[in-house]
Amino acid sequence: MGWDERQRAMLAEMGFRLPAVRAAGSVAAEEVDAPAEVAAEHPVAPPAVARAPVAMPPLTAPVAAPAPRIAAPAGFAGLDAPALRDAVAGCRACGLCEQRRNAVYGNGALQQADWLIVTDPPDDADDAAGDALTGDAGRLLDRMLLAAGQSRVAGKNGEAPTAFVTPIIKCRPPRGRAPQPAELDACEAVLARQVELLRPRLVLALGLQAARRLTGLAEPLGKLRGHAHSWGGLPVVVTYHPAYLLRSPADKAGAWDDLCLARRTLTSS
Ligand code: SF4
Repeated sequence: MGWDERQRAMLAEMGFRLPAVRAAGSVAAEEVDAPAEVAAEHPVAPPAVARAPVAMPPLTAPVAAPAPRIAAPAGFAGLDAPALRDAVAGCRACGLCEQRRNAVYGNGALQQADWLIVTDPPDDADDAAGDALTGDAGRLLDRMLLAAGQSRVAGKNGEAPTAFVTPIIKCRPPRGRAPQPAELDACEAVLARQVELLRPRLVLALGLQAARRLTGLAEPLGKLRGHAHSWGGLPVVVTYHPAYLLRSPADKAGAWDDLCLARRTLTSS
């Protein structure tokens, strides 16, 4: 995998150090596989032993912009993005509407998205702002996405965003408790309509609750990472929530493995 200057800068901001570019005639630094380099540089890894990259499992080749298997029910069916955002803001389909300050629709690509990033439920800051992944965790996510060649904001030269970020459930459960199955069921109608509108090629699940919901597996996050799953006909790759990575920077190397897996999943299609 090759790394341009921007990606190298983003990786550095994530805490990864790539080797300096070597002189012409030698092996270029960009040809070095990033996860192994990350492992070698990372403080929690044995410094002299490079960790093997995460193996790429056999994948069912995803089709660009597939039709989602999960269809939006009548309440949201047919709504365009602005109307759906408005509907979510006033949604009372489950009890979480009672204590939310703001529903969180999400942000990013306005039309087709390469990556749909589905996060754990809104935290207190997201609930207050009415937006997904605000603050330091959001800034870390933005650097991670840029390093992976994705972005949820427009580029400096007017490039359209390629990713959209939205929580698995749009209203914050009281005191940050885990959402209940009935609440997740109710809110999946919104996510299904977002998939119809955005036609993503891949879903990146950030955090345990998003990962368990999308994979249908009640496993620890570590068992859900490292291979692609399927949700509604879309490939799903699981990784850590950026808020967790801020608390546990040793796991940034694993997050980078997951982003590389996501890239390989799309390029193998
Ligand atoms: S969590 Fe989802 S289904 Fe429940 S009220 Fe909020 S937007 Fe509606």
